[in-house]
Amino acid sequence: MNYRQMFQRYSINKGWIEHASVDDSILFLCSEVGEVCDARLRGNTSLIRNNEREVDIGDELADVVFMAFKVADALSLNLDGIIMEKFNAKSSLR
Ligand SMILES: [Mg+2]
Repeated sequence: MNYRQMFQRYSINKGWIEHASVDDSILFLCSEVGEVCDARLRGNTSLIRNNEREVDIGDELADVVFMAFKVADALSLNLDGIIMEKFNAKSSLR
């Protein structure tokens, strides 16, 4: 199973994001980046800025990846392929 397939299964389970617009998908992505910051802030200072549930930075980073795939899906982009192309281009420069 590739990341896109994982995201699609996640998206179907989450019903509410399956048909989100491009703009809404980008906002979901930004919201998850904020949750990464919240988890880091909570871990470093014990401060709770937004939601006390966001404490696991690894879990929030996974949400960021899923939402990046959501944005790509909304734009009909194959992010798995794009990542592989970029990796190949960058790794062949050396
Ligand atoms: Mg999250």
